[in-house]
Amino acid sequence: MTENLAETPASLDRALKALDSSAELTDTIRAEYAELTDTIRAARHDYYQEDAPTLSDAEYDRLYRRLEQIEAQYPALIANDSPTQEVGGEVSEAFSPVTHLVRMYSLEDVFSLEELRTWLTKAEENTRLLTGTAPQWLTELKIDGLAVNLLYRNGVLVRAATRGDGTTGEDVTHNVRTIASIPQKLAGENHPAELEVRGEVFISSADFKKLNEKMVSEGKNPFANPRNAAAGSLRQKDPAVTAERPLSMYVHGVGSRTGLDVNSQYQTYEQLAAWGLPTSPYSKLFTSVDDILRYIAEYGEKRHSLVHEIDGIVIKVNDFVAQTQLGYTSRVPRWAVAYKYPPEEVNTKLLDIRVDVGRTGRVTPYGVMEPVLVSGSTVERATLHNQDVVKAKGVLIGDTVVLRKAGDVIPEIVGPVVALRNGHEREFVMPTECPSCGTTLAPGKEGDVDMRCPNYRSCPAQLTERIYYAASRGAFDIEALGFEAAKALTAPAEPEQPP
Ligand code: NAD
Repeated sequence: MTENLAETPASLDRALKALDSSAELTDTIRAEYAELTDTIRAARHDYYQEDAPTLSDAEYDRLYRRLEQIEAQYPALIANDSPTQEVGGEVSEAFSPVTHLVRMYSLEDVFSLEELRTWLTKAEENTRLLTGTAPQWLTELKIDGLAVNLLYRNGVLVRAATRGDGTTGEDVTHNVRTIASIPQKLAGENHPAELEVRGEVFISSADFKKLNEKMVSEGKNPFANPRNAAAGSLRQKDPAVTAERPLSMYVHGVGSRTGLDVNSQYQTYEQLAAWGLPTSPYSKLFTSVDDILRYIAEYGEKRHSLVHEIDGIVIKVNDFVAQTQLGYTSRVPRWAVAYKYPPEEVNTKLLDIRVDVGRTGRVTPYGVMEPVLVSGSTVERATLHNQDVVKAKGVLIGDTVVLRKAGDVIPEIVGPVVALRNGHEREFVMPTECPSCGTTLAPGKEGDVDMRCPNYRSCPAQLTERIYYAASRGAFDIEALGFEAAKALTAPAEPEQPP
């Protein structure tokens, strides 16, 4: 048998190899695969249906990637309803279903510049093959919100729906009508008989903060991030609630477009802007991959100074003929890709909230967390500023929390993952006495929310911090006098031992 193998024809050889690899498809792999699909489906439900994710996007993306890896190795496992074959969302029974005139898709994600280069090179080759010319690229910011599909008939908004599973969405017409920047009637003239405008509904970063503070002050649960705040605000049964939420939208595509006389994505945006639809000011046309990489680097730097959150950059083949030639998979267009920036938000457990006494006597609560890696460093502590901030964020000790660390910026606890509460969480109570010297705490100047230890002369914690500060590089720069030495110098004297 072994001798004959050397002479086996190629087809038989392949069949034997396939048998070999199916032999490797162990029960362990099957079990991992089943668990992954279950976890991803449950996460999608929490994210799309409940607008309350239980996993961080980074963790979701990691599990999804692993699923793709297993499927690439064992294609026999891929079923039609695998999460990799479907657009993620579902349609809630709380809304009437709407069939999109033209399907809505998701986007293929890449997570490194290396992967992006490979994707662009392949798409460029395919475009050349199919159309005879190299593609022009349109780069756009990937806004972290939720997609909507607006149907205009002869320039009048008649229906609005969420993406849903791509084929069927949820009817949110009444809610969308409350968004001021979305025109009920298009400006100008010569409107198409039928036009589906696709865009991203979002809440600005500043409005998100205010909204969450308001939610907590009304005794409601805060949203985990701006994306979920936008989704939760749009997917309301009562449009009056949506009307109170600061929602915005930017256009990022079209579906059915009978009578729209344009031949590229960029030209479409120009026409839609002329009709009064909100288009992003950041979209740019490029022909070289290096320019795309520069754009990615530029917005990687600027991403936190933008009005809204972005989680990446979308790169699209601009020309409509090329888009049609390249076509779609069951889930994504082959003419667009999303480069995702490294994740800056992770979930971790808030183990405790403690307080620190600073050199000016200010007593600051801080969160102690299960150590977690985010933006390149391990974080286990984050300031919570004062008791009002703890309240406004709505976090309880024992919560799973969303922790954010953007580059070199100090880590921030964004808010709790309310869906993961088990009833054992407890509220933080601001101490009334200084944890270092026992003096009763008091507010500082009038209107100051911070609590302070008024024992400026002899509170050991304050003295340590002051000595440490005085010896630091910015002051006297005394090398040998670090925090531990400052602590030793200010420790209360041990009671004398009897001889
Ligand atoms: P996606 O978010 O990766 O990309 C597709 C979507 O991007 C589009 O539908 C559109 O809404 C949006 N978009 C924003 N700006 C755009 C632009 N300029 N042009 C085109 N589209 C633009 O894919 P998805 O299928 O919506 O969701 C998958 C992602 O959602 C995951 O990678 C993860 O980040 C998140 N997710 C998280 C969880 C969780 O548990 N945390 C669960 C499900 C999904």
